Order: sequence, then structure tokens, then C-alpha cells
Amino acid sequence: MDLDVVVVGAGFAGMYLLHKLRGLGFSVRVYETGDGVGGTWYWNRYPGARVDIESQEYSYSFSDELEDEWQWSERYATQPELLRYANHVADRFDLRRDIRFETRVTAARYDEAANRWTVTTDRGDTVSARFCVMATGCLSAIKEPDFPGRESFRGRTYQTSRWPPGGVDFTGLTVGLIGTGSSAIQSIPVIAEQAAHLTIFQRTPNFSVPAHNGPLDPDAIAAWKADRPEYRRRQRASQGGFLTSDPNPLSALEVDEATRRRVFEERWARGGFAIGGAFSDLVTSPEANATATAFVADKIREIVEDPRTADILTPKTYPFGTKRLCVDTAYYATFNRPNVTLVDAAATPIEAITPTGLRTSERAFDFDVIVYAIGFDAMTGPLLRIDVRGRGGLALRDLWAEGPKSYLGLMIAGFPNLFTVTGPSSPSVLSNMIVSIEQHVDWISDCLSHMRDRRLGVIEAAAPAQEAWVAHVNESAAATLFPQANSWYMGANIPGKPRVFMPYIGGVGPYREKCDDVAAKGYEGFVLSDASRQIERPTPSQ
Ligand code: NAP
Repeated sequence: MDLDVVVVGAGFAGMYLLHKLRGLGFSVRVYETGDGVGGTWYWNRYPGARVDIESQEYSYSFSDELEDEWQWSERYATQPELLRYANHVADRFDLRRDIRFETRVTAARYDEAANRWTVTTDRGDTVSARFCVMATGCLSAIKEPDFPGRESFRGRTYQTSRWPPGGVDFTGLTVGLIGTGSSAIQSIPVIAEQAAHLTIFQRTPNFSVPAHNGPLDPDAIAAWKADRPEYRRRQRASQGGFLTSDPNPLSALEVDEATRRRVFEERWARGGFAIGGAFSDLVTSPEANATATAFVADKIREIVEDPRTADILTPKTYPFGTKRLCVDTAYYATFNRPNVTLVDAAATPIEAITPTGLRTSERAFDFDVIVYAIGFDAMTGPLLRIDVRGRGGLALRDLWAEGPKSYLGLMIAGFPNLFTVTGPSSPSVLSNMIVSIEQHVDWISDCLSHMRDRRLGVIEAAAPAQEAWVAHVNESAAATLFPQANSWYMGANIPGKPRVFMPYIGGVGPYREKCDDVAAKGYEGFVLSDASRQIERPTPSQ
């Protein structure tokens, strides 16, 4: 079957793409590995999983009707509620009929002569489309545990990012959990309540702030409903695509100690990412940053009763905020429980998984269950696990061997008619993903309509524009403290991955302006060509 557009992934990006493009009259098919919609919320079903952006902000804005009829129940929605939302959207907009579930795309190849993309799946079928859109997500390629002896373990193992849909009952079990990123920090307090004993292996401590989650405040619901268009406008113009960070324009260094403390305390009490906006220079000035680091260290010492455990939990090797902040419910307090033990896996590294548990450089542990919460091959991983080939058979894996190169995080020189949603070099993971997804989907849809109207068949990022954008992305990151952390933003969690700060830190507001300006200037920096290979007038939507 010859399609206008093939979309890879039925997460929040793929779902909106399908709805939008179909509504514009393009023929679209979506491929999805899972057996349902929802992407990250389909896979990450671990206990305690919930969004770290406030629910009302973390929702589609493209349909007033959808917004009117859906009501979130908690300030930070749980994974089951988010998955219900994704399914509601799929039902409401009749999306499933154009999604092929349980089908992984393994290759996408550009046929230059035909100006079409041929997409191959793990079911052995191929499909041809004029355009290919990678809606593959940024945290969908999981990092496989590679500890020696992993296969020898006789107990049960789970990975947070591939949690069984029916859940896991930890009652009465001894559990070892490896990792202390967001996934671990959300699941640890819940598993600790069930397990007989939970031992956590932490290699690097994270900064975590309380969510102060609870039922959604009726006043917050009323305020959002009363002024929704204005909230949405402000989201789109903001730095991160959400309003709760509420950026304070003051430097942390221009106020006295007492004022600084009061501001941090007030933000800590608000919860979530509010603390990230406490001062303007927290991720640009080492001195300002140190004040935030010291504040969180004090909080950890206040909450965690055992001084040695508190010390191990305190980040010391990278600046505050330069790894994704974690938003938790009772994380630090969980270490006061008698059935929870923290192991410093930096001081005493895990050497091997054994038939009965694991062994560190210091001692052996026995477990009924091992939970891996070890993260993802972020941003580039989902794209490079597909064999993507552009002009002349150019492999994306080769082009990106030294790190991702993309114009606006939307297109890649040498790969005509291939779009990436929230790809590297766009604000992406530094932002409220739904806001960034909607911006990309709208931009791509406008672009395809523009081409159809002008009977243009090919669009491709121009190499000089791409080089200039990549340089700008790198310079923007270099002006901050982010490159100092061994984060997944830097690719540092994957051995051998190039050390490049992948997302664009310039902010979703300025970035949106740049993308709009590029489009208004006739897609400046892109080459559009070839009327003889125009997009056929589509048949009306099926
Ligand atoms: P992550 O932040 O990459 O954390 C992985 C953890 O596993 C780290 O503590 C890491 O230690 C540890 N680890 C990895 N390999 C290890 C090894 N060989 N030995 C010992 N420890 C090892 O992954 P994540 O927690 O899944 O979170 C990833 C991102 O997903 C988050 O940053 C966030 O953006 C997103 N997320 C969001 C939410 C939410 O919205 N609420 C929830 C979960 C995840 P090192 O740091 O030393 O490498």
C-alpha cells in the first residue's frame, strides 16, 4: 500500500500526528511495538509511576472538547490514569483503525528514484510512504542490564521500563533494586511498603524534590478552566512548556542568605519543579548553583535519620539541576524504614549477579527479586535502533557516530522527507513533552500542507543550516553547567556513546518562534523541490 505518511510510534506524538494528518486528508499509517497506545505510559507501569509535570499542564491542548470532557483526579496523574487518558483519546478520535499494533519498525530506507520511504517491520511486511515521521519517543530504548552473571539469577527479575501489566506483589519478598533515577525514586517508597526487605544499590545520588501530590485542588481546576487559553498561551511561550517552575528573575547571589533560604523553602513547599525556577542563575553560575545544592543537602539531612545514609544520598559530584530533577513522594523518608537498606554502589560496586542475588566488591546479598531501574539509551537510541538510511544508502548510525546532527531537531540533511518529533537538537526532554510534541506535530502538518498546496514533493534540511543550528545548540549548552554532569542528556549513561548534550536548552518559547519564523520565510534552511514528484492530491479521509 502506498501512503502519504508512515508514522513510527503510537505514543502521545504518534497519536496526535495521526489525528492531525488524517484530518488534513493525508493517508497515514502508524506502527507501534506495544499492543496499545500511550508510549511511555504504556511501558512504564512500575509501582508509583506518575508524571512529574502537573496533570492539567501535561495534557493535549489541540481539542477544546477533549479538554472540556477530561478531568484529572490528582495533581500528578498516575500511570494508570495517564494510560486511560491515552486510550480515551484513541477512542474519541477513532485512532486505532490506522495503527498496526505489536509491530516494530526495524528499517526505514529512502528510495531516491521514487522519492519514497520504504519501511520494514519485524513482521516482515514493508510499506511505502512519501513521508516518514519518527514519533519514537526519547526514553523508549531501554538500557539492558549487562551485569556479569545476569542470566544465572534464579529469582525473578523486573525492569521498571518493561513492567508487567498485571503488576507485581512484593509482599514478604526480599528485593534488590539497582538504580536511583526518577523511575527508582518513584518506585522505591511503594515497593518498600510491601517488601519484607528492600536493598537499594545507588551508584550516583540524584537530587529529588517532593511532589506534594494529592487530589487536584478544586480551586486549581476552576482557575485552569476559567483561563485555559491564557494558560496554554503562556505554556507555549515559556522556557520549559509548563508554568509551575514560575521563573524568578533574581540571581541567587543578589539576595542575602535569609532571603535565599526563604525562597528555596517556599519553592520546596510548593513542590515539583518549582524549585528549579527559584533563581535565574541556578544552572549557569557555579556559586548560585552551590546554594541550591546546599539547600537540598540540608533537607536530606533533616529527613534522613541516619547521618551516614543521608551523606550517601547527598549528590556531590555534579551541579544541582544538571541531571533531570526527580519529583518524589516520601523518597528520602523511606530510608528511615527498618526494612530499607542503602548500598553505596560507587564505593562498593556491583561485581556480578549471582544465582541467589548479587555480589558487590564488599559482600554478597541474597534476594527473591531483582529490580533494574537503570534507564534508557535516551534520545538517539530509539532512532538508531532502527536501520534508517537516507540518500545514497547513508546510514543514520554512521552520520551520528560522533553525536546527533539535526536541523531544529526536525529534519536531518541527507534524509529527505523524514521528520523527527522532539528529536535531538530540540527542547524535547527539557520541556513538558506534550507541549513540545504538539508544536512539532503542528509544524510538520503545516509543512506537508504547504508542500501539497505548492505541488512540492521533497523537503530536506540544508547542510549549512543544520551545521549552524547544531553549533547554536552546542553553544547554548556550553553556556550552562549541564555539560558537567554525567547525565543521559549527555549520553554519559551509555558506555561508548558520544558525549554530546543532546536537547536544545534555548527554551520552548524562543524555539517555537524560531520554527515559526523559518516556516514564514518559506522554510528557510530547508530545500524544497521537485514539482514532478509532488504529493498526490489525497483522497478524502477514509
Ligand atoms: P536514569 O535516570 O538514567 O537512572 C538510571 C539509574 O540506574 C541511575 O541511578 C544509574 O546510576 C543507575 N545505573 C545504570 N546502570 C547502572 C549500573 N551498571 N550499575 C549501577 N547503577 C546503574 O533512568 P530512569 O530512572 O528510568 O529515568 C530516566 C528519565 O525518564 C528521567 O530522568 C525522566 O526524564 C524520565 N522519567 C520521568 C518520570 C516522570 O515523569 N515522573 C519517571 C521516570 C522517568 P548512574 O547515575 O551512576 O549512572
